[in-house]
Amino acid sequence: MNIAAVTWTAFKLPFRTPLRTAKGLLEYREGLLIRIGTDAGLEGLGEASLHPLSSCADGLHGLTNTLAALAPGLIGTKAETWPQGPRVLPPPLAFGIETALLDVLAQHRGTPIAGLLGGPKRNAVEVNALIASESANGAALEAKAAKEAGFGCIKLKVGAASSLQEEKERVAAVREAIGPGVKIRLDANGAWGVQQAILAIRALEGCGIELVEQPVSADDLEGLERVQESVQTVIAADEAIADVQSAARVIEMGAASVLVLKPMILGGIKKALDVTSLAQDAGLKAYVTTTLDSSVGIAAALQLACMLPEGGPACGLATGELLGSDIVVRPSEISAGKMALLGLPGLGVKLDEHALFRHTLFSGHVGP
Ligand SMILES: [Mg+2]
Repeated sequence: MNIAAVTWTAFKLPFRTPLRTAKGLLEYREGLLIRIGTDAGLEGLGEASLHPLSSCADGLHGLTNTLAALAPGLIGTKAETWPQGPRVLPPPLAFGIETALLDVLAQHRGTPIAGLLGGPKRNAVEVNALIASESANGAALEAKAAKEAGFGCIKLKVGAASSLQEEKERVAAVREAIGPGVKIRLDANGAWGVQQAILAIRALEGCGIELVEQPVSADDLEGLERVQESVQTVIAADEAIADVQSAARVIEMGAASVLVLKPMILGGIKKALDVTSLAQDAGLKAYVTTTLDSSVGIAAALQLACMLPEGGPACGLATGELLGSDIVVRPSEISAGKMALLGLPGLGVKLDEHALFRHTLFSGHVGP
């Protein structure tokens, strides 16, 4: 099966309500939808979106230019042979192209992508609810609603509060609202210094914290290790897992007990599976999260998540609801705190062409 056409559409989706993180306020999600057509008449979908908190200088136009330069060389090549050669692509673009190709190959075989890559280990994945509200009361109400909807894990962004007291009041209000049975996960997105992280986590531990994602800066692995040694709470490395090499370093140093896998950051589902193997060999758990992608990126992350063994931490895939619009017809549904693989061939999503058109910034095409 040969590649016959490559189409890209840059889109911009609004967040339902602007999302406050330790690195700033998110109002929009920009991304690149990639469509790869084949001579067998199949079309695969992939998403290449820069992490909204990344400081990547390239931006959406940089990704597009790289794809536009690459696309003519893809025409006529076998869909099965990607990736070939020493091609170094921005990881989100590698992820987007790989997803679209896996989508056509899996459709061709009549299996979900997970089936193509060795088979899913589970057909549904526990996911966490992400609380957007900044106030203690608002967060408590949102968390209570999430618990009632069946979520077993609630995630709060931390590190943006004006004081530790304020942080503590918000986390304590959430614990009070949901009772002891539901997990609380915190994510500092690297906002704390090492001492600050140790103090904050010790102060919050009484609220019963499942784990804290990336308490300190991504490049401070020694700091991450010091935090992990100084607190009772499990520490997860997220932004520190930038590629297979950095994941290997985190594992070797024992800098974190859990790894967060973002296939968009790691450069594709296959690379993320490589990191999963490293983690498993070291006896560490891992879970998959999105970079607040559209439902195309989320669907790819779900395929990966289904290839992880049962019993790991909840995955951060319930992020589609944060966006005010989407570009697929029927996003993956969450029921009782779980997202299920529907067993459809390929990626398992269908584009909503009208919605995509409404949110298009610009587009391009190579092929007939
Ligand atoms: Mg995180």
